Amino acid sequence: MQPTASHFINGRYVEDTTGEAIEVIYPATGEVIAQVHAATPAVIEQALASAEAAQREWAKRSGTERGRVLRRAADIIRERNRELSILETYDTGKALQETLYADATSGADALEYFGGLAGALTGEHIQLGADFAYTKRMPLGVCVGIGAWNYPTQIACWKGAPALACGNAMIFKPSETTPLCALKVAAILVEAGLPAGLYNVVQGMGAVGSALVEDPRVAKVSLTGSVPTGKKVYAAAAAQMKHATMELGGKSPLIIFNDADVENAVSGAMLANMYSTGQVCSNGTRVFVQKGVKDAFLERFAERCAAIKLGDPLDEETHLGPMVSEAQMDIVLSYIAKGKAEGATLVCGGEQLERDGFYVAPTVFADVTDGMSIAKEEIFGPVMAVLDFEDEDEVIARANDTPYGLSAGIFTNDITRAHRVVDQLEAGTCWINTYNLAPVEVPFGGVKASGVGRENAKAAIEHYSEIKSVYVGMTPVDSAY
Ligand code: NDP
Repeated sequence: MQPTASHFINGRYVEDTTGEAIEVIYPATGEVIAQVHAATPAVIEQALASAEAAQREWAKRSGTERGRVLRRAADIIRERNRELSILETYDTGKALQETLYADATSGADALEYFGGLAGALTGEHIQLGADFAYTKRMPLGVCVGIGAWNYPTQIACWKGAPALACGNAMIFKPSETTPLCALKVAAILVEAGLPAGLYNVVQGMGAVGSALVEDPRVAKVSLTGSVPTGKKVYAAAAAQMKHATMELGGKSPLIIFNDADVENAVSGAMLANMYSTGQVCSNGTRVFVQKGVKDAFLERFAERCAAIKLGDPLDEETHLGPMVSEAQMDIVLSYIAKGKAEGATLVCGGEQLERDGFYVAPTVFADVTDGMSIAKEEIFGPVMAVLDFEDEDEVIARANDTPYGLSAGIFTNDITRAHRVVDQLEAGTCWINTYNLAPVEVPFGGVKASGVGRENAKAAIEHYSEIKSVYVGMTPVDSAY
C-alpha cells in the first residue's frame, strides 16, 4: 500500500522526508501499512507555483478539450475500480462490498458529469436597446480542496472535477488519516492527459491546510469536515475575501410516520445510520418514529441489525468494517456510554468488538429525548437514536431544533404530507421514502451550521467560476457634462 511518494505535484510524485511522518493504519487490524510525510513549506510552494502557472494555460483551452480529459479519467477509474476500491478499503476500513459500488465509481461519475458539462458552460447575451451586454463565465484560479477521511476518493473527485471543468487548478489536501486514495486520482488525471500542475496532492495535518488557505495565490477553498474546522477555514478564507464551499457535519432527522411502509422505513434507517459504519455526514441519526409504528419498527430493526455481518472488510460478504481510527472509535464509545448514562434504552449493540481493529457493534438506542447528548451531537459512528413523536407539527419543530441543517428524510405513504413536511424541514437535502442517495446530478450541501455552497450538479459550477459582465456601447457616449 506504500505510495510511490507522499505528494503528487506538477505531474509527478514528490517526496520530502523532512516533513513530519504520518503513519497510515489499516483500521481492520491496527497495523501500519504505509507512511507518508507532511508537506514542508518547500513542498507547499512547489504545489502553489506549479498550479498557478498551469492554470493560466488550462483556462485558455476550450471547455470541450478540458472535458475530454476528465471523461478519460472517469473511464480509467472505472477500469481500475477493483484496485481503487481495495485501496479505499485499506485507507478507511470500509467494507469492500461498499467501496466497490460507492467510492471510485462516484468519483468517476463526477469526472464524467463535469467532463460533459465543461463544453456547455456559457455566459448570456443581454440586449439593451442598441447597446448590449454579455457575460462570461471565468475560472477562479487556484482552488484548494481539503478532505475528510470518510470518502477520500469521492471527495478528491467531487472537488477536483468541477474545479477543472471550469478552468481552475486544484491543490488537494487529504485528511491525514486517509492519505492514499487522492494520490491515485492525481496520477490517473495525468495519465488521462491533464497537464502537469493542475491537480496537485499535498499531505499534512491542519497546519498544511491552513497554510494553503492563507496563501494569497489561492482563490477558493472547499472543505469537507467538521463544523469547528469549517468555522476556522471559512474565517481564514473570508479574511482575504476568498470563495468558500463548506461541506460540514450534521445531526439529521429521519421521520417515520404511522402510515409508512415499515420494512421500507427500516431499510432507509439502516442506510441512514449503518452505511460506511455510520461515518457519513448526511446520516439521519435522529430517527423520529411515530408512536403507532414504534414497536414494529424497533423489532424489525433489531432483527435486521443482528443479520449485519461485521468483520474483515476485504471479504466481500462483510457488510460493515471497523471505524476509521482508534480515535474515532473512542469518540463513538464515549457517546454510547453517554447514551446509557443519560437513560436511553439500549436495543442492540453498545460495545466494542473483542478482536483486532477498531470495531463497534451496530448500536440502537430507543426512548431517546431531545436533550440527550446522543440526540444533539454528531457521533459519526454506527449509533442510531430513536425518538418517539405524536403528531406532524410537533415532529417538524423538533426536527428543526438543531444548529445543523445538512439533510433530512421522511417515510410516509401520504403524498401531500410528504411534500408539506419536506417544505418545512431546514435541510439542504431531503429524501422522501429513501435515504442517503447523493448522485452527482443533484446538488448537495447544507444550511445553517452544516455549511455554505453546494457540491455536485450544475450548482457546483456557480462555486468554481464567477461571472464577468461586459457592456458594449454601440452609439456615442451620452454625457451631460
Ligand atoms: P476535521 O474537520 O478536523 O478535518 C477535516 C479536514 O480539515 C482534514 O483534512 C484536516 O486535516 C483539515 N484541517 C483541520 N484543521 C484545519 C485548519 N485549521 N485549516 C485547514 N484545514 C484544516 O475532521 P476530522 O477528519 O478530524 O473528523 C472530525 C469530525 O468531523 C468527525 O468526528 C465528524 O463529526 C466530522 N466529519 C464530517 C465529515 C463530513 O463529511 N461532513 C467527514 C468527516 C468527519 P487533518 O485531518 O489532516 O488534521
